[in-house]
Amino acid sequence: MSGAVRCTFYGTSSVHVSDGTVGIFTDAFLTRPSLLRVGLGRIAPDPGRVRRALAKGGVTSLDAVFVAHAHYDHVMDAPEVIKQVGGTLYGSESALNVGRGAGLPEACLQPIAHGREYTVGDFTVRVFEGRHSPGNRYPGSIREPLATPARASRYRDGGCFSFHLVHPSGSVFIHPSANFVPGAFAGVRAEVLYLGIGALGRQPAAFRDDYWHHVVEAIRPRLIVPVHWDNFGRSLGRRLRPLPAWFDDFAATRAFLERRGREDDWAIRFQAPFEGI
Ligand SMILES: [Zn+2]
Repeated sequence: MSGAVRCTFYGTSSVHVSDGTVGIFTDAFLTRPSLLRVGLGRIAPDPGRVRRALAKGGVTSLDAVFVAHAHYDHVMDAPEVIKQVGGTLYGSESALNVGRGAGLPEACLQPIAHGREYTVGDFTVRVFEGRHSPGNRYPGSIREPLATPARASRYRDGGCFSFHLVHPSGSVFIHPSANFVPGAFAGVRAEVLYLGIGALGRQPAAFRDDYWHHVVEAIRPRLIVPVHWDNFGRSLGRRLRPLPAWFDDFAATRAFLERRGREDDWAIRFQAPFEGI
């Protein structure tokens, strides 16, 4: 990133953005319970794993966590992160109900809505509501405070959001879910685009082309960082690996990205966890 804004990746669509004064996280999903555990039982934030990840990334204080949607692999740890390092939880009513279930006070909860802008220090965060990637396993809303441990199926999406972080030193667009609303990002510009590619390899080629057109070609970033491609059942202490084959066809997505990068000259770079740009 240009100037003083630094973006650090933590797997899935968890990205920490800071100008050295103010810190914003998207999702901040750091516990990453094994998929077997997710399938068989109830899950909860692991305060030790959260603490270790924040320490490794050097996050000692935080101002905001913006939650993309209320599936567990986005929202589950946001309240625990706020308990450890501070900040306000920005999200749908479903996401806020996860905060309430964890005992966060209402003063730490900020509902978000499409088209609204939120000021966090020198950042302006504009919110776009969009669509979940095809194959939404848990649609619907979380209508009451959700305490943990809870089954993954209790985490209903509650609406899917993307975030445009604009700062005097540069701008970042975080688009966690691989789907699009035609024309929604017309006129939006960002230097860095965190582009969700989860399950994109399982979609028809025409869908991938449309996705690229309505997201990447609309925003025209200088750098594309693919996100939500990693197997989020593996701890951040281990190397990131792609989602398992029954979940996604990562090879197809990688071939698509390589072709786009080659033919149209897009700069595409995978970011390692805890690495800043
Ligand atoms: Zn989801």
